[in-house]
Amino acid sequence: MNGRLMELAGRTRGFMPAEEGLALHQLGLEASPSHPMLEVGGYCGLSALYLGSAAQETGSVLFSVDHHRGSEENQAGWEHHDPELVDARTGRMDSLPFFRRTIELGGLEAHVFAVVGASVEVAAAWATPLSLLFIDGGHGEEPAMADYEGWSPRLVPGAFLAIHDVFPDPVDGGQAPFHVFTRARADGFVEGGAAGSLRWLRAPS
Ligand code: SAH
Ligand code: MG
Repeated sequence: MNGRLMELAGRTRGFMPAEEGLALHQLGLEASPSHPMLEVGGYCGLSALYLGSAAQETGSVLFSVDHHRGSEENQAGWEHHDPELVDARTGRMDSLPFFRRTIELGGLEAHVFAVVGASVEVAAAWATPLSLLFIDGGHGEEPAMADYEGWSPRLVPGAFLAIHDVFPDPVDGGQAPFHVFTRARADGFVEGGAAGSLRWLRAPS
C-alpha cells in the first residue's frame, strides 16, 4: 500500500493494527478481480482503506456493508464506545459520515461502495458472486455466525474468507469469530494463513 494511504490509515479510527491491515491488503491483491469483494463491518473505513486500495490496484471493487449504528460494544458505556461518533440530533451512533470521509480522503470512491443496512437482511437480497469476504461485523455468537451463513454461499471456489478477531484462547478475546473459523474449516474451507487476530481461508472448489 502506498505511503499516503498508510499515513491516512494511521489517523483513521478503527480496530485494525497495520500488520493485519497489510495482510488484508495482500489478500485483496490476490483475490480475483473478476468478482467484487465485500466486507461486513465498515465502521470508519479503516479496513476499507486496505481492501479498497487493493481493489484500486487490481481494478476490482469493494462493497462495505454496515448499518453504521455500531455493535453492542460501540454503544455508550461499553468498551469500544467513541462519543464523537454519536449523532447529536438523535443520540444514536452514526459512523457513516466518518466512513465517507475516509474513502474520500483515500481517493477510493470509484472502488469502495458503502451499503448501509443490516448485514443479514442485505445478504438475503444479495446474489452477486464474491472473490473475497471479510467478516468483522457483530462479534456475538449469533450475529457472527449469521454473517457467515448469509454471505459465505456467495463466495466463488478459491475465494478468500477472512475473519477478524479470531482468538482460539478465550483469555485473549470473545470466541464467536473463532467459532466461525472452525465452522468454515468443517465446511471445507482450506486454512490459508494468519496475521495477528486475522485468519483467512479459501472457499472449497
Ligand atoms: N472493520 C472495521 C471495524 C468494524 S467494527 C475497522 O477496520 O475498523 C464493527 C462494525 O460492524 C460496526 O461499525 C457496526 O455498526 C457493524 N455492525 C455490527 N452488527 C451489524 C449488523 N448486524 N449489520 C451491519 N453492520 C453491523
Ligand atoms: Mg475487528
